[in-house]
This record gives sequence, structure tokens and C-alpha cells, in this order.
Amino acid sequence: MTSVMWFRRDLRTADNPALLAALADGPTLPLFVLDPALWDPSGLPRRAYLVDSLRALRRDVPVSVLHGDPVRRVVETAQEVGATSVHVAADYGPYGRRRDEAVAEALEDAGIELVRTGSPYAVAPDRVKNGSDQSYKVFTPFSRAWAAHGWRDPAGALPDDARWRHLKDTVDLPDVALPDGIELPTAGEAAANEAWHAFLDKVTDYDDARDKPGVEGTSRMSHHLKYGEIHPRTILADLAGRQGAGATTYRQEIAWREFYADVLFQRPDTARDYLRPEFAKMQYDAPGADFEAWQEGRTGYPIVDAGMRQLRATGWMHNRVRMITASFLVKDLHVEWQHGARHFLQWLVDGDLASNNHGWQWTAGSGTDASPFFRVFNPTSQGRKFDPSAAYVRQWVPELADVDDPHEPSSADRKATGYPEPVVDHKAERQEALDRYQQIKA
Ligand SMILES: Cc1cc2nc3c(=O)[nH]c(=O)nc-3n(C[C@H](O)[C@H](O)[C@H](O)COP(=O)(O)OP(=O)(O)OC[C@H]3O[C@@H](n4cnc5c(N)ncnc54)[C@H](O)[C@@H]3O)c2cc1C
Repeated sequence: MTSVMWFRRDLRTADNPALLAALADGPTLPLFVLDPALWDPSGLPRRAYLVDSLRALRRDVPVSVLHGDPVRRVVETAQEVGATSVHVAADYGPYGRRRDEAVAEALEDAGIELVRTGSPYAVAPDRVKNGSDQSYKVFTPFSRAWAAHGWRDPAGALPDDARWRHLKDTVDLPDVALPDGIELPTAGEAAANEAWHAFLDKVTDYDDARDKPGVEGTSRMSHHLKYGEIHPRTILADLAGRQGAGATTYRQEIAWREFYADVLFQRPDTARDYLRPEFAKMQYDAPGADFEAWQEGRTGYPIVDAGMRQLRATGWMHNRVRMITASFLVKDLHVEWQHGARHFLQWLVDGDLASNNHGWQWTAGSGTDASPFFRVFNPTSQGRKFDPSAAYVRQWVPELADVDDPHEPSSADRKATGYPEPVVDHKAERQEALDRYQQIKA
């Protein structure tokens, strides 16, 4: 019997239970549907990366690509090849769930089954519960229960005797032109495995190095995980034998990804709305010229500008700097987090609704287990603390490379280098943020 493997965020051959399930049903048509509902709002970096990732997958699997609404395309295709089953890894995002329900119904009408096997997570959302069968709202108890729940061993590799079906008419993968100067990481399963094993050799240093944006101290696995070029289960299995703070902290970071997916599953409205509704009542400023300065990396606060420029040049920003830049937008410029989250999703290759929007809400103080609103990051002291040699600022704000104090250039140095004066006074805006917070607390 013929089956269809509908790839989405699982662009790999190894440890891919849905693909193995499809092949177990018989000759398999591997399919990817370029869905305008996801493609059109994606920023160029993510589109370009997705196309690269699909090209990489096609070296191992003859994926047919179609364009259009998956509800029509998947059903038509399954009928065309006479499939009795369509296999997917379950999607837990707000849009993906709705889409899959609609596809499942349309397939059922045609007498075809949608089979969901696995998900992009080690433990799928809605599985980790407390003693009263409730989902967790706070990270630390979630992560304990998540580790206690455990996960399956990685699934095997692609069988040698895999049999594939092809479609006669498929579309060419589009070429995505990136603005000059943007350099994206290499996509695909092979690149993901290479990056992962290189990082695994230095995971012992992770605990110390991960908060320093000026050193290559993190794994850079987020885009590979986003597109499923490697599964977190594979990562966790490789970490299993390793003791020490580096491996332990790394496991916790994977748990954050799973926590946010769970929170978004429980509260799909929080993709747009405040998790803590009282924050919707706070007074905010409309995004204006300062917002543009933030987007373009010319706020006059070097660590903020370095981060915003790194984002545009590479489609990635260091986690510590994501927090600093997000805090600056919400608490120094008083702009609502949704504007910043949208900008991040426009540029991030790893842009992921759950991790991004809840990372923003956490920083804004309106999210889960949030850093209290009154703890306002001082961008200058954050820069000095986490980028002590100013290597990061020097790299991304090169006009400050030779000044005496790149984290707080003098007015004379700003004039000489053309680097702007601060768009706002942090001390005054910190107080303003606290005053506005008092109003919603009262
Ligand atoms: C405002 C803001 C927005 C963010 N937007 C995204 C996003 O769109 N996509 C995304 O994948 N991550 C996002 N993060 C989380 C984090 O910044 C990135 O996962 C991390 O910087 C990716 O680099 P890395 O793979 O080298 O991380 P590492 O430090 O090597 O971490 C390993 C993996 O753990 C996961 N992880 C680490 N930290 C977090 C976290 N705080 N939340 C969720 N998962 C985490 C990621 O999958 C990451 O690849 C955001 C954080 C903030 C504060």
C-alpha cells in the first residue's frame, strides 16, 4: 500500500519515527507543501534557510514540493498516488493544530487516514502534568517533572530498502534573494550533526561560556531544531552519559524549549496576548522613531545596537543579548512586546512562535515565571558584565572598535566616530517604567 510522508518541521532522515511509520506502510511519497499562510509572513532569512534545508533533504529523499493550501494539496496528492495513509509528526502550534484538523477531516472524507507519529519535542506538549493533572505554569517544577517523565530512545536510521514514489508535477524550490551582506548558517541534517558533535566536545564549558556573547559558547542548534534537522531526543541521548554542570545546564535549555511549547499549547492566545492580562492595561507608547532606531541598531546603547545588528547580519542573536534588547524596547522605550517579537520573527532563522513570543513575554514581565517587572536591565552594566572585553560590541559596532570605552563611549568619541548619542536616558526611563507598572499594580 502506498503512503505519503508529509514533511513539515522534521527535515531529516535519522530518528524520524513518522518517516519510518510511512515506509512501514509501503512505497512512500515524500511531500512538502509550501503553504502561503506560513511562507508569506516569514522573513527572508527563514524562507532562504527553509529552501536550503529542503535542498539538503532532497539529497537523501526525493521530496516532491507543491505550493498551496495543504488541505487541498495533501488530499489531492494522496488520492493521485492512491495512498491509504498520510504520515506526519504532530504539530502543536496554534496554526498547525487547526490546519492538521482540517487536513485530517478532508482526508477522512476521502477514506484516507492522517497518522501522527512523534512531534518536534522529546516530550510532546500536554504530557507533563502535576499531581492534580494540571499543566505547569512555572519552569522549574515543569523541568523536574519533564525529566522524570523521560523520553524514548532515538528511532533508527532510514532503512536501506526504502521505496519512494514521485509526483509528475512538482514545483521548483524558489530562489530567495537575501539583502546584501546577510550570511546564514549552513542548513540540513549533515550540518546539524556536524555542529552538534563539534559542540558536544566542548559542552563542559557551556555553563561558563553560554552567557558571554563575545565567545562562541553556545551550541547554535536553534535553527537546526526549528526545522527538525536534528531531534531533541538525539541530543538528549548523546548527553545522557555526561555529568557536569555543562551537560546539566544544556539539558535545562532544551527543557525551556519544551516548556514554552507546552505553555503555548495550553494558552494559544498567548501567541499575541498577554499571559498575565493585567499587563494589557499598562500604558505603552506607539512605536515611532526610537523603535526604528532600535530595529536598525542605532539607539546609542552599544550592547543593544550590537545585538540588533547581529540579528540583521546573521539571522541569529545571542540569548543574553535577546534579553537585553527586548528589555530595552519594553522598559526603556515603553513599546509593547508584540512589536519587538514581530521584528525578531522577521529576521531570526530560528524564529519560533513559542520560544520567541514567550521569551519576549518573560523579559517583558508579563509571561511565565517572569523576571519581575521592576528588575529593569541597565544596558550599559549588562554590556560590561557579560561582554567584559567588549569583543562583541567591537565586532558588531565596528565604529567603536578603537574607542576607550566601547560600552559607554564619550561624547567626543561619539562625535568622532558618528556613533549616536543615546536615544533615551536609561535612568529616567527606568523610573518611568516603574511608575507605569505601579499604575497597573494599584
Ligand atoms: C526575546 C527572546 C526571543 C527568543 N526567540 C527565540 C526563537 O524565536 N527561537 C528559538 O529557538 N529561541 C528563541 N529564544 C531562546 C534563545 O535565545 C535561543 O534558543 C538561543 O539563543 C539559540 O542559540 P543556541 O542554539 O546557540 O542556544 P544554546 O544556548 O546552545 O541552547 C540550546 C538550545 O536550547 C534551546 N533554548 C535555549 N534557551 C532557550 C530559551 N530561553 N527558550 C527556549 N529555548 C531555549 C534552543 O532550542 C537552543 O538551540 C529567545 C529568547 C529571548 C529572550
